[in-house]
Amino acid sequence: MKLGLFGGTFNPIHFGHLRAAQELAELLKLDRIFFIPAATPPHKETGGIVSFEHRLQMLQLAVAGNDSFSISHVENLRPGKSYSIDTVRHFQKDGDSKLECFFITGQDAFDAITTWHDWKNLLRLCRFVVMTRPGYENRGLHQILPPDVAGRYIYDAGGNVFQDQEGGTILFRRTTFLDISSSEVRKRIQQGRSVRYLTPDSVIRYMEANRLYQ
Ligand code: ATP
Ligand code: MG
Repeated sequence: MKLGLFGGTFNPIHFGHLRAAQELAELLKLDRIFFIPAATPPHKETGGIVSFEHRLQMLQLAVAGNDSFSISHVENLRPGKSYSIDTVRHFQKDGDSKLECFFITGQDAFDAITTWHDWKNLLRLCRFVVMTRPGYENRGLHQILPPDVAGRYIYDAGGNVFQDQEGGTILFRRTTFLDISSSEVRKRIQQGRSVRYLTPDSVIRYMEANRLYQ
């Protein structure tokens, strides 16, 4: 069983997230990708973030009909900040040795990995897949990985992966990059502009019905 764990604030989910996840599922032959909204994102000001329940509902609408996509509300079950390492441990708790987990992030999120809680152990606990934007191939090895990470990893060109001695694996995979962000979606709604084709219609209807981000 190959699982993708895709964490984020998803405030709201948009086609950038969905398309990248779809391509990774195909590329890595993942059986399933869990979209995992953060209850209390450690890195974001909580001010402009709509409730966990709203973000969860929008995710559910967005992935409806895709058998490879699921939503996990695990981060809402824990009090305090939502740390990814606790989430990965949750998925691995049964000790199922046949379970292969891939933690999915965008390049911007991964660039800040050394600010994540217990990041060294997190990187060893499961494989990381970083969805890269066009042009990343031109960055030198030590620019792809943050400096504190780069020193520990060796690049294996055959498998196109970075590996460290303690079993950490980081893959960089190119996915179609749709230049969409949740911030941009929120900004447009606030300005009364259309967000059609940036996120699924079902999500747009939900945001309108609940007067989100206005
Ligand atoms: P915000 O603008 O509020 O920061 P966001 O669009 O970046 O929102 P997040 O919920 O912060 O969305 O991101 C969750 C994950 O999705 C992160 O790993 C981020 O790097 C990745 N991501 C964000 N936007 C895209 C996109 N357009 N394509 C691929 N991945 C993305
Ligand atoms: Mg972001």
